[in-house]
Amino acid sequence: MDSELPWVTFALIGVMLAFAAGWIGSRLDIRQWKREQSDSPKAYYKGLNLLLNEQQDKAIDAFIEAMQQDPGTAELHFALGNLFRRRGEYERAVRVHEYLLARSDLPEADRHRARHGLAQDFMKAGLFDRAEAAFRELDGTAFATDARLELLNLYERTRDWRAAIDSARKLEAAGAGSFATRIAHHWCEIAEEADARQRPDEADAALAEARAVAPQAPRPLILAGQRLAAAGRHAEALALWNELFALQPGAVSLVAAEYAASALAAGDPAAARERLAALQARQPSSDTLAALLGLEPDAAARSTRLQQALKQQPTLSTAAALLKENAATADPGDKTQAEQLAQVVGARAKPQQRYRCAACGFEAQHYFWQCPGCQTWDSYPPVRLDDQ
Ligand SMILES: [Zn+2]
Repeated sequence: MDSELPWVTFALIGVMLAFAAGWIGSRLDIRQWKREQSDSPKAYYKGLNLLLNEQQDKAIDAFIEAMQQDPGTAELHFALGNLFRRRGEYERAVRVHEYLLARSDLPEADRHRARHGLAQDFMKAGLFDRAEAAFRELDGTAFATDARLELLNLYERTRDWRAAIDSARKLEAAGAGSFATRIAHHWCEIAEEADARQRPDEADAALAEARAVAPQAPRPLILAGQRLAAAGRHAEALALWNELFALQPGAVSLVAAEYAASALAAGDPAAARERLAALQARQPSSDTLAALLGLEPDAAARSTRLQQALKQQPTLSTAAALLKENAATADPGDKTQAEQLAQVVGARAKPQQRYRCAACGFEAQHYFWQCPGCQTWDSYPPVRLDDQ
């Protein structure tokens, strides 16, 4: 028995040494892990701090450093992907999101998030086909409503109006609110394109759809009236625009000049003058005023109306209109000076006669139903800056 003792002792010592080595090894691992854990947030906070100080280049470097220390963290990849996209570095943003999608250990929720990020990268980069496919894959996920909204924007940007209508209807069905006015705009766009292709029947049908989906919307009424007037059906155009006076009086100024022209063509200026004068008393605008002046054959009556308007609304536009009227009726000796004065004030009034987007501030001489700056629908109040 005694001869067996040293062997047992050696074995026990061996086991203890192995245990100690394992313990020391594991301690070292834990220490390293702890160091990594403390380094990674440090780099992350550094990146965040730089980001808050709008030093995006340095922030990206800090995030890349943090990512190298802890490649398993998806959050950093997401932060980096969003940063790249915001800076317009779409290729790099795509690479980050594709890397995330290629990872087999990514939880499903993060996978959807990465696909959403990727779709946004494609959209921003103008790769609409790939964006469409990526957004479509988000159906049935937590990003479904957002993806449908993005798809709606995408179809609008590519002027695929029928697909836009389909998307808007799906959003309505999913309880994302009413898209009636927007759908009416899509039908109006279809009508305008059909008219440009000399397809009046298609335009009629599209406008009927627009009016059915949003009976209160001003654009279908304005457009339908313009088409009737262009076809010489002035009495019908006036009847349609009279609905606008009742439903959307604020939008009448957009079509006031054409309303007056149709009234003259239909031989019924008195009724139109009465309606426009009543509107002008409630909601004065330079367009309604100009339309009224067009219906006033008598120079003295025009001048009186302008003087009243200047008292009611002392704007550069009204002053310019009054000076122009005065120049037209001035004595030959005063005419040149009167015309010069009208020209100077008219030029000063011009910038004030723009429309301005309430969403982004984009200004234009022309009225837009969808802002070319920010793509928002109905963001232009239908009054010129001078009339606000
Ligand atoms: Zn805008």
